Amino acid sequence: APNIRLENLVIGYGKKTIAKDLNIEFPGGKLSMVVGGSGTGKSTLIKHILQLLPPKAGRIFIGENDMSTLSKREQHCIKQRTGVLFQDGALLGSLRLVDNIALPLREHTRLSEKEIQRIVEDRLNLMGLGHALELYPNELSGGMRKRAGLARALVMDPQVLFCDEPTSGLDPVMSAELDQLLLEMMCHFDMTMVVVTHDLASMRALADHVVILGEGRCLYQGDIEELEKTE
Ligand code: ADP
Ligand code: ADP
Repeated sequence: APNIRLENLVIGYGKKTIAKDLNIEFPGGKLSMVVGGSGTGKSTLIKHILQLLPPKAGRIFIGENDMSTLSKREQHCIKQRTGVLFQDGALLGSLRLVDNIALPLREHTRLSEKEIQRIVEDRLNLMGLGHALELYPNELSGGMRKRAGLARALVMDPQVLFCDEPTSGLDPVMSAELDQLLLEMMCHFDMTMVVVTHDLASMRALADHVVILGEGRCLYQGDIEELEKTE
């Protein structure tokens, strides 16, 4: 799984700079957490790495690839292998679970319908949702909806997975279960994982690496153990 490296990255919207001098490395095959208060730019950073927003300056490397020098086609290939788990799971209310999960495959691949069904069922089984194929999102519990979002984020065999506040809205027990599931999926799919959270406490037992944003910059990055020594 590839490293993600940010070099002198400046992030923001239009003329507005949210954070600068970002020299950050997310180690390949590991779980990194990005923490910081509300409005410090955690989501903005992820949107930049996903190429949803143009960097104001600096570079983003995914593995050996400098995203700014790749052709559109090469960028597209990397984007397809980059999964995102949004807070709300981003499921479409009008589609049954099977069709929600199949959506990226139908849009971005030419796999046969049979092959698509096989992948969708595999991901839903991994999430413990094998019994819920025919249900609509509003028939799912909060925890099931999160897992369905995760199933969808995993259909394209991502090398990299970003999760934005994955446990928001869940009670502590369900949060711990989802965290555990994320960790298992990271190993199962050999992914580099970046989890955005405002809650340092909940994730620290799981993460290998922590990045703290604040005051318009990166305040800390490194091992969780090192951070604990300085606290
Ligand atoms: P966090 O995820 O750390 O809570 P965000 O990245 O969502 O922070 O937001 C960082 C700052 O950028 C906030 O001040 C927010 O209001 C601002 N912001 C977020 N989205 C936009 C946008 N689309 N246009 C302009 N400013 C935005
Ligand atoms: P989060 O911090 O969890 O991403 P927010 O509540 O900050 O969520 O933002 C929700 C949405 O609104 C995001 O897509 C963000 O881009 C957008 N947004 C936030 N702040 C602004 C802003 N000042 N101007 C325009 N859009 C914004």
